[in-house]
Amino acid sequence: MKIERKKLFINGQWVEAQQHQTLTSPYTNEAIAEIPMANADEVNQAIEAAHKARKVMAKLPIHKRSAILAKLAQLLENRFEEAAKIIALEAAKPIETAKAEVNRSIQTYKFASFEANRIGGETLPLDAAPGGENRFAYTIREPLGVIGAITPFNFPMNLVAHKIGPAIASGNTIVLKPASQTPLSSFFIAELLQEAGLPDGALNIVTGSGSTVGDLIVTDDRVKMITFTGSPAVGMGIRNKAGLKRVTLELGSNSAVIIDQGVNLDKIMDRCVTGAFSFQGQVCISLQRVYVHEKEYERFVQMFVEKTKTLKIGDPLDPETDISALISKKDVERALSWIAEAEESGAKVLTGGIVEGNVLLPTVLTDVDASLKVSCQEVFAPIVIINKVSSIDEAISHVNDSRFGLQAGIYTEKLNLALEAVETLEVGGVMINDIPTFRVDHMPYGGVKESGTGREGIKYAIEEMTEMKLVVINRN
Ligand code: NAP
Repeated sequence: MKIERKKLFINGQWVEAQQHQTLTSPYTNEAIAEIPMANADEVNQAIEAAHKARKVMAKLPIHKRSAILAKLAQLLENRFEEAAKIIALEAAKPIETAKAEVNRSIQTYKFASFEANRIGGETLPLDAAPGGENRFAYTIREPLGVIGAITPFNFPMNLVAHKIGPAIASGNTIVLKPASQTPLSSFFIAELLQEAGLPDGALNIVTGSGSTVGDLIVTDDRVKMITFTGSPAVGMGIRNKAGLKRVTLELGSNSAVIIDQGVNLDKIMDRCVTGAFSFQGQVCISLQRVYVHEKEYERFVQMFVEKTKTLKIGDPLDPETDISALISKKDVERALSWIAEAEESGAKVLTGGIVEGNVLLPTVLTDVDASLKVSCQEVFAPIVIINKVSSIDEAISHVNDSRFGLQAGIYTEKLNLALEAVETLEVGGVMINDIPTFRVDHMPYGGVKESGTGREGIKYAIEEMTEMKLVVINRN
């Protein structure tokens, strides 16, 4: 098979890079494409193109920005199957899950197209303060200029959409560095945006290693904001280097759900299993920890394990596949060593815990101490722990006993208990009667603690990507 040699996307042109690296499939280990490795000069060209285009984008009327995003959503719909196949190939995402991601990306760009029309300010009654008589004020929101976007491998199309969509909607320009394992989805979107009429320089894509290309973007003075989604360690490093730039960080988590006594387990079981194992658990709000009331515990565990054993392992391109390869061999080894550590400390492996090819079988652990890595760190693998609690208060304190705080879920029939959980859970979002893995693309999304700072969800990302300016008119 002939392997395509990809190019950098700079100033509306496809630019041949000096160096390349072979991208391989995580499932078959076969070569998929040759990926450009941008050098410092190429990154500089991309930033300069975005810097020059910032005035064009800021002046582009809102209806035109909105139309470009709507056209992009349409083009993506037209090439739906191709888009899903790209994600499945580069990320080993099972094709049905990849299709769901393309559908969400379409939604995200549609929301960005709508939200472009709603960017506005407010008027303020200045005479509420003595000395403010005969003055009135209003606010406007202005684009920041160049946004540096750095994205992870796990949603290579939709998380890129959560950067590109709001940036274009609010009149910014972008320099994007996608994850090294999943750059093809970004190149594909650039093609469609070109066709949709995006001005040259408004989007630039530079691929290469995080520590070189990413670092050059993070430390460049022309870049006014970094929007990063990825691991906490990299996120913290970026924050430390970004100086006075605005920074939003969408980081990791070890998300949990609480199951109260009296919940209809038949109704929630499929959803809990999907939340734990969708895309092999490589989802930032993947269900990693389950705390079940002792009255329901035995039945919950038995049903969960039964359902887990029905999941189909295999090729990501096979529509029957539920679970495929982890993103890298290194991650398989890490996951196995964490399972071994848990077993050595008395945890029970009820199913999984072994590897077939590059696939770690979906793994269910019980009796796991909170200090073990499978509990207190982000597993980012198809591993879930199910522990027994004697009260919901106890469950809440386990959920909060975490460095992370992205989203949490609670299943309960009792309204007061649910509202108490809302008050006490230390997370960015509480899902009542749902798993923590719920997300649609216009809701505010982000975490507390080491799960990050700032919010995504188009309207909220636009706030982050714009600066408020105050105008005061003196009528005296
Ligand atoms: P990662 O290793 O942190 O990489 C994310 C991005 O950062 C990649 O593009 C990477 O480039 C780049 N990078 C690496 N080192 C860098 C550096 N020193 N300076 C600048 N950029 C650098 O994360 P990942 O493994 O791709 O993704 C998994 C993580 O993302 C998990 O922790 C997950 O929870 C988190 N995540 C969070 C959310 C959310 O919304 N909260 C959503 C999805 C994922 P290379 O690929 O070239 O290394």
